[in-house]
Amino acid sequence: QGAQRTISDICNAGAADAVAIAAPERSAMTYGKLRELAGHTVSALNALGIGRGDRVAMVLPNSPETLAAFLTIGAGASTAPLNPAYRQEEHAYYLSDLQAKALVVRSDGGEEAKLARAAAETHGIPVLDLVPDTDGPAGSFCLKGGTPGEAATPGFAREGDEALVLHTSGTTSRPKIVPLLQRNVWTSARNIREVLQLSADDICLSIMPLFHIHGLIAASLAPLSAGGQAYVPGPFNALSMLRWLQESGATWYTGVPTMHQSLLDRALKRPDAAKGLGLRFIRSSSASLPSQTMKQLEETFGCPVIESYGMTEAAHQMTSNPLPPKPRKAGSVGIAAGPQVAIADEAGTFVPQGEAGEVCIKGDNVTPGYENNPDANAKAFFQGWFRTGDQGILDPEGYLTITGRLKELINRGGEKVSPVEVDEALMDHPDVAQAVAFALPHKKLGETVAAAVRLHEGAGLDEKTLKGFVAERLADFKVPQRIVFLEEIPKGPTGKMQRIGMAEKLGLVET
Ligand code: ATP
Ligand code: MG
Repeated sequence: QGAQRTISDICNAGAADAVAIAAPERSAMTYGKLRELAGHTVSALNALGIGRGDRVAMVLPNSPETLAAFLTIGAGASTAPLNPAYRQEEHAYYLSDLQAKALVVRSDGGEEAKLARAAAETHGIPVLDLVPDTDGPAGSFCLKGGTPGEAATPGFAREGDEALVLHTSGTTSRPKIVPLLQRNVWTSARNIREVLQLSADDICLSIMPLFHIHGLIAASLAPLSAGGQAYVPGPFNALSMLRWLQESGATWYTGVPTMHQSLLDRALKRPDAAKGLGLRFIRSSSASLPSQTMKQLEETFGCPVIESYGMTEAAHQMTSNPLPPKPRKAGSVGIAAGPQVAIADEAGTFVPQGEAGEVCIKGDNVTPGYENNPDANAKAFFQGWFRTGDQGILDPEGYLTITGRLKELINRGGEKVSPVEVDEALMDHPDVAQAVAFALPHKKLGETVAAAVRLHEGAGLDEKTLKGFVAERLADFKVPQRIVFLEEIPKGPTGKMQRIGMAEKLGLVET
């Protein structure tokens, strides 16, 4: 078969006795065991008629077995992880849309397993039970159920086979189906490994959901591609984060800004615990990281914060800030980190450096195209380039700044306001813990600027004072006309802020 850019190649990256997967209060799974498990899992799937590129849906909350299932099923077939928070109807919709050959749920699962199983049964999709081996090392499992069959294409997957199929987060429209090839996910893992200079000594505390590209590639395949370790404690929990960081011996973790912010809230109360961890760096991606959060994280944890820019269609990473001594720029998502990056106008002409336009990418990490969505494909692809839908500017050193999503820009009577810039101005106020600007429908102007703000505990800031504060920093048309103070700002399923629809969600729109 020769050298193949595949998930099984990644499972082969570590020494037989080196740790691949670890978890609290469990013995660790070595690469030797992981390879054995991959062999067993691929044969078990083949015996059920599931072969290379066939889709196996998984509804599994974060756990070491979930990571092991992603790796070992992905070594022979294509995994389709679904959000365990979906209701039965959502599961039914996604399962039939994906034409999954089987569904995997935990034999000891909770509500999520029950609902997903019921959904699969309504569509006649066989259910395979993931039976954890609680006496074995972290992540050990076997599959039970299904009916014997013959796989058309058995064995380990090749680089042109589908490895993973996901849905976009649905921040700007209905989620789109994104198939990713073995070559795409392998390339993205390698790109991340290179930027972060990951080695076999690195331990990643893996807390991103394992149904989202960020968790699957950056917190799973990337550390393993270096022969290093992923420590998987379970679903994210801000209360346990500090303890997990200590117990795992983590050298890094990757998360979305809302996670860093809730960790910071904890850490600021216990500065002693935040210092003295073995963190080499903290990685942030999937949404813009306010420069204030970056600064506070660096001060509190005493390590660099590396912001990267990723998306589902790119198998995650597109650009990243580099590690020191190379400069990282707050507010910038860094330099091209794997794929080629360029800025184009609507007609697909590349604009001169320093001008704003749509960020476009080209590389082996990019999806071959959305499924069953010729319109979206026709809009997204031109001459081998992929349009991200994000607006950005490249500086003379090649650092990219995302000024917003094309669809999220606030259009105030023709004047485009970047919500990211408004967030930053609000967060400059010491009482503000978190701020999210969004468009508020307006009779005359079409849209105006509004913002949801969470204050630090005990702060007593009012709307007028905060508006005055922002007015000293931004042009009048960018100052939010409405600011609402909330205990908790509503988030999407992957922990991201959803600016689109926020006004409706907060009941600010008259209907
Ligand atoms: P949908 O495509 O369904 O609207 P989505 O784009 O949120 O949802 P994802 O693929 O999870 O789904 O997210 C990718 C997007 O997240 C990028 O296109 C970009 O808008 C945003 N993003 C990712 N990283 C960053 C970052 N570091 N700074 C700013 N925005 C980011
Ligand atoms: Mg998107």
